[in-house]
Amino acid sequence: MAHLAIAGGEPLRQQPYPSWPIWTQAEVAAVQAVVTSGRWGSTHGTEVQHFETEFAAYQDAAYGIAVVNGTVALKLALTAAGVGVGDEVLMPGYTFVATATAALEVGAVPVFVDIDPETYTIDPAHAAALITPRTRAIVPVHLGGRPADMDAILDLAQRHDLVVIEDAAQAWGSAWNGAKVGALGDIGGISFQASKNITAGEGGMLLTNDPAIGEMARSLSNCGRQPEGLWYAHYVLGGNYRLGEFQGAVLRVQLQRYPEHLARRQANAAYLARGLAEIDGISTLRSDPRVTANAYHIFFMRYDAEAFGGVPKGQFMKAMQAEGIQGVHGGYSLPVYRQPVMQAKNFGLPTPPLFHGVHPHPPDYRQVALPATDRACDDEAIWIRHNMLLGDRQAMDDIVEAILKIQRYRDELQDQ
Ligand SMILES: *Cc1c(COP(=O)(O)O)cnc(C)c1O
Repeated sequence: MAHLAIAGGEPLRQQPYPSWPIWTQAEVAAVQAVVTSGRWGSTHGTEVQHFETEFAAYQDAAYGIAVVNGTVALKLALTAAGVGVGDEVLMPGYTFVATATAALEVGAVPVFVDIDPETYTIDPAHAAALITPRTRAIVPVHLGGRPADMDAILDLAQRHDLVVIEDAAQAWGSAWNGAKVGALGDIGGISFQASKNITAGEGGMLLTNDPAIGEMARSLSNCGRQPEGLWYAHYVLGGNYRLGEFQGAVLRVQLQRYPEHLARRQANAAYLARGLAEIDGISTLRSDPRVTANAYHIFFMRYDAEAFGGVPKGQFMKAMQAEGIQGVHGGYSLPVYRQPVMQAKNFGLPTPPLFHGVHPHPPDYRQVALPATDRACDDEAIWIRHNMLLGDRQAMDDIVEAILKIQRYRDELQDQ
């Protein structure tokens, strides 16, 4: 008789994990109020304006500029901070593709840095080794809500005159040494896409403490307008990247609910980490007293196949899902530099070559190999997403129990 569910046994858990998004009548009422107000655009209504103020205040930033999504937020952040054609931009290889494509869209050259395998954030020592006279910016990604080592990054930036653009798409509520992330460098980008910790389906935000960068970001997102200029006067090469009022209204409601969700995720993450500490072959990221708050968009487990009889990560995850741990996820299946778009000739574009005449020897991404990044994608990283962390204690215990069960009966996986 098989024990493992994937081999025909009884699944360990029958109940689903909390799904995402979570909403109540409050979101419905907020959207309805915008509909009936007749003020659907943020140029007429006040929902987006209020949300910008409330979100920037929550994140301890002086300026918040709402935009259509996180990818656009990063793109405008680069431009507003003065990063453009031919500039090299340091970024981790283990991130969502938009970190790199946003740079490419402004004509900048992504230079991939390995992650610290103990934190899954950019390795500052490796970043330092990749600096050239063309390096203009560094983009730390606070992956899964864990802040990157901002002490080392800000220090490196100061020594080499780099701008710092935080990809905080997964990290509001997160803090480094007591300071909320997003505006610790020159400017940062946030995402409210459907999977993120608060969402309106799509949406994004720029955060900065620098008035000149903030003003530029505002203009870039609003067709190049200026505050004192006429409506049909355009001064800067920008576009229309404004967020709409329906989304602003939903995000205001979601933000109000956020502190309670954040506390629950953090409590469950701490509890889960204690349970996992007992398991041979599963480790979590190194704790660091400077990480004073982690938003836990993702709780990372590191899988060591050797402790599971050599069962590869993909097969282990299928076995977990069969046990009823359904939200468990393998994460980014490819490092960004191994994405087809990065390996394609001229990034798959039918245009004249992107870096022609602006960079003497652009990187050949097919030659890039970063050991910790490759290992995270291929063999090691397993994601527990934030919605799973909104479950009860039993939901956390079941993750631990399912792993132990698979480990114990791993021989049953040999025939799968
Ligand atoms: C979600 C995300 C983005 C892009 O945000 P969108 O709103 O989907 O455009 C960028 N970087 C990271 C790390 C993300 O997780």
